[in-house]
Order: sequence, then C-alpha cells, then structure tokens
Amino acid sequence: MGETAQHSFDLYRIFLGDQPPGFFLEIMFRTVVMYLYVLLLLRLLGKRGMGQLSPFEFTIIIALGSAVGDPMFYPEVPLLHGLAAVTLVVALTRFVTYLSNRSESVEDFLEGQPCCVVEDGVLNLKSIDSERFSREELFMLLREKGVSQLGQVRRAYVEPSGGVSAFRWPEDRAKPGLPIIPPYDEWTPPPGITVSSEARRSGELYACWKCGHSEHSSDAQPCSRCKNDDWIVATCDPLDEPPSQQHPRDAPAGTSAESS
Ligand SMILES: [Zn+2]
Repeated sequence: MGETAQHSFDLYRIFLGDQPPGFFLEIMFRTVVMYLYVLLLLRLLGKRGMGQLSPFEFTIIIALGSAVGDPMFYPEVPLLHGLAAVTLVVALTRFVTYLSNRSESVEDFLEGQPCCVVEDGVLNLKSIDSERFSREELFMLLREKGVSQLGQVRRAYVEPSGGVSAFRWPEDRAKPGLPIIPPYDEWTPPPGITVSSEARRSGELYACWKCGHSEHSSDAQPCSRCKNDDWIVATCDPLDEPPSQQHPRDAPAGTSAESS
C-alpha cells in the first residue's frame, strides 16, 4: 500500500527497492539454485524436449526472459535486482560452458551422446525410451530423410541436438522392413493392417509392428525381440507396393492402377 503512495519516478525505489542491500546475496543464491535446477530438469527431459536448443541455450532463454521482463513492469522489482540476476545467469552460463569444455563427464552429462535408435532396420526400443523419444517422432524425422521403411536404414542415431542422423543402405542392399509412412506410423496399428502371429502366411516376410524386426517364421511365435504379437508384411517400398494386409480404405486411389 505504501508503495503506491510514492512518487512515480523515485529513482532510489526504481533501482534499489526497499530491500536491504544484503538482499543481493539472496538474489545470487536464488539465481544459482534456480539455474542449476532448471539445467538439471532440462537434461532429464531428454533431447527432444527442447527441440534444437541445447540445455544451456534453453536455460538462458528461460532465465533471462523473466529476469529481464519482471523489472520492466513490476514496480516492486528494482532494476538492480534484475540486472544482478541477468548478469549472474550469463556468468553461470560462461562458467558451466568452461567446466564442460574442461571435463568430459560434465560435457556428457550436459550435452549427452549420440544414441543408436535403429540398427539394421530394427528399432532399439530401450534407447528410444531412454531418450524420451516417441516412435512417431522418430518416424517423422526418418521420413524427413526420405526413409519410407526401416529396412532402408543401416543405423540411425539421436544426436545431442535432438535431431536424427540416418545412415541408409545403398538402394540395392536395402531390405524389406516395417513401413513408417502414414498410416503405418501409429503406435497402435489401424484395424485390418496387422496380423497376429498365428495368422501369418508361411513363406512371406513379416516385420514386427513394434520393433521392426523381420522374420519368415510361421510357427505362431510372437516377435523374438520384443514379444509383440502384431505383424505386418515387410515391404521394400510401401509407396509402391502397399502391404497386402492393408485395409482397402487406406489405399490411396492413385496406387491401385496396377490392378486394372
Ligand atoms: Zn518386435
């Protein structure tokens, strides 16, 4: 209440507020705690959580955002407090960057390492999970690299940046695999697209819906890698030859030309 009674351009209040000078120490302590805690949380969020930004960049954006903004329009937040917090955030960033350049373990913790998520056309479900990646996100990033089915992929890595790098088999060495273009990119198979282990026709190559592992086996066993029981006919090019289990309503009108 007393604040509103003051003059609008009370410079002492604008710069220092009514906190004792010792409050600057408290600001520094608060800033360090919040900075480190946000950095830790962002690291736990996984690589995709921040898009293409590193945890550093993301932390500095969040921290500077409110430290810069609050003193602009909250009369009870003095400018010097905001300036102290902003300066400290920048200094902390410099310090943590310095530490991570000096120590490999700090760097690994903050930046992470590339993580193999596809090996020989098969998804590494554990790595995908540990990177807080969803299957759909991974498929989206692989499609952006021109991959339409997992058999084309020799290795794919989630990079510390949150992006995916894919090493593809040469055209003549690509194997049939799990299609990853819509509608095959959902976690739950759309009705009529997959078959159970027992329903597989012998002699045909099937890919596990969940992990992409392909096998000829017709002995009614679930996937030997992930124990999943949904199979789809493995395909070389899902755009060319839609898997035979495909539901008629999902077939694009243009691709049925070969049947006429
Ligand atoms: Zn599987």
